[in-house]
Amino acid sequence: MQTASLSPYFIDRVSHVREDNVWIQAQLDAGSTRLIAVYQSSVLCHNYDPGRPCFLSHSQVTAAPESLVFLGQVDGIAYFSLSIQTSEAAEQLCSAQQATFQAYAVSAPMLESEYHELLSLACFSSYWHSRNHYCGSCASATEISSAGHMRVCTSTDCAQRYFPSMDPAIIVLIEHEDRCLLGRQAHWPETMYSTLAGFVEPGETIEAAVAREVNEEAGIQIEDIRYHSSQAWLFPNSLMLGFNAKATSTDLQLDANELEAAAWFTRDQIRAQPQMLPNQKSISYALIQDWLNR
Ligand SMILES: [Zn+2]
Repeated sequence: MQTASLSPYFIDRVSHVREDNVWIQAQLDAGSTRLIAVYQSSVLCHNYDPGRPCFLSHSQVTAAPESLVFLGQVDGIAYFSLSIQTSEAAEQLCSAQQATFQAYAVSAPMLESEYHELLSLACFSSYWHSRNHYCGSCASATEISSAGHMRVCTSTDCAQRYFPSMDPAIIVLIEHEDRCLLGRQAHWPETMYSTLAGFVEPGETIEAAVAREVNEEAGIQIEDIRYHSSQAWLFPNSLMLGFNAKATSTDLQLDANELEAAAWFTRDQIRAQPQMLPNQKSISYALIQDWLNR
């Protein structure tokens, strides 16, 4: 099977050095190091090009250690996210840099793959830290650790550790003879259709989640569930696990809370309406393209 390409992996996370404070500080002090400023899930971008992130150096800003997360390296250059906490600080930065905070969801379609991975990770890190300031076990304050890849409860009796995580979700292209099943949710752009998807529930295998979601949303049974590929989708914090499956029944009974519409499509029908396909950077698009190319 020819596999449509998803974003390649650009970031070298060098996770073995996150605990090395001397190394992390040396990276911050390096002139080549780039800081990605994030304010409320928006990324600082140049005024002259809203799709181009405005990278900062550590010497350009006053950054509390709590606001910095080491993301990793790309081509030997270290990248950190810098969380901006207040609207006043955000306005000052925009004025000083002739830049604007762009909602990540708006700028993402314009970004090169390299920046897409970095910026989504920067926004996710900023978001996660902003919502984990207190221990869920004892309610004491937590503090940043491991260059931003962990938070630790400051109560010595507790010392609970917290790690950023993603929720597993499945997404599946279902075929029957020469057609595939695509559906749409009511809030999507008009005419857009995509493969079915849903979250894995606690205690459930991902294969069981595929069969359950398809039955719940479309009322059909499937077999021959095969893994295809995965994609981190950090808004919300999902790890999308892509599958192919074959339907053993075709009469659809839709859950109106999940799907506004769904239908079986031939390859010619999809090729004739390319505007119906989802974002080209999505795993859903890759699943559909692979099926079209078979
Ligand atoms: Zn605690």
